[in-house]
Amino acid sequence: MTAIATSAIGAPLSECELCPADLLAGQEAAFARDIARLQARRSEFVEVACPACGDARRHPAFAKFGFDFATCAECGTIYMTPRPSPALMADYYAASENYAYWAKHIFPASEPARREKIHRPWLERVAGYCARFGIDRPTLVEIGAGFGTFAALAASSGIFARVTAVEPTPEMAAACRERGVAVIEKRIEEIGDELGTVDVLAAFEVIEHLFAPRLFLEQCARLLRPGGLLVLSCPNGQGFDIAMLGAKALAVDAEHVNLFNPASLARLVGAHNFAVLEATTPGRLDAEFVREAALAGDIALDPFLQRVLVGEWERLGWPFQQFLAANGLSSHLWLVARRAEAP
Ligand SMILES: [Zn+2]
Repeated sequence: MTAIATSAIGAPLSECELCPADLLAGQEAAFARDIARLQARRSEFVEVACPACGDARRHPAFAKFGFDFATCAECGTIYMTPRPSPALMADYYAASENYAYWAKHIFPASEPARREKIHRPWLERVAGYCARFGIDRPTLVEIGAGFGTFAALAASSGIFARVTAVEPTPEMAAACRERGVAVIEKRIEEIGDELGTVDVLAAFEVIEHLFAPRLFLEQCARLLRPGGLLVLSCPNGQGFDIAMLGAKALAVDAEHVNLFNPASLARLVGAHNFAVLEATTPGRLDAEFVREAALAGDIALDPFLQRVLVGEWERLGWPFQQFLAANGLSSHLWLVARRAEAP
């Protein structure tokens, strides 16, 4: 059974703190070239059933960049189908100009802000789960550690007995090492027993990118000790900004092929030898994203939301965001589950 927790979501967060505006144009150009490369290989896309529940019944949701998204009739997961084959996905990430641009420009310029505004709250959330669910001085493995900001913060926190990053992309693995983080430069399916005992396995903003989330969860169950915690974060396809903006939402993009919701992600994880402890949506940006779209003329708001998100933004914007977050309605989803004991 999944509990939608009512929890504090910390301080307000502003999008402009995270991606300096003067760097956006270069990033957008790099991303456009990535998309064009993906579109050119459209013949390698494959049809899939729902990545959460396996049901093939669906109805069209929206299209973005010429890619089609459907809503599962059974569980409400929004997913791209047809989608790039696993081989095409691997090529896409390996050759991504967008990631290279991020690594070279945006990340160095915004890392201090990201560390304090994003990764420190993540660390507090993970530490809170460990305390609540009785995991003391755990070993922590982060899958898809990227540039290693979170892993470095976790390693220096003293909360964990050991922190290991798993990051297959060479440039990013190097960035993890530069931050003093022990890194295993492999894909998760290539890992044998080199991680040792894993008490907590975390994967932030990873599962929405995967062709086959089921295989990923099987690997997570294999690597995590019985009784250990799995912590995932990803977009919530039923959250406010995706519900309001549809294809215009930032979380809807060519890489996010799975947009789960709290119930569908819990169902998927629960089917892979995990007991789901909590699914919650501690997002801080939905109201701001929708407000900005309205101010830019991209969407029209009804008078009530116009009042909340524009007319009385200073008074109502943050309480409204807190309401979304506390009630499973934000587009930023977290799930924590316990690995079942061995039979
Ligand atoms: Zn489904």
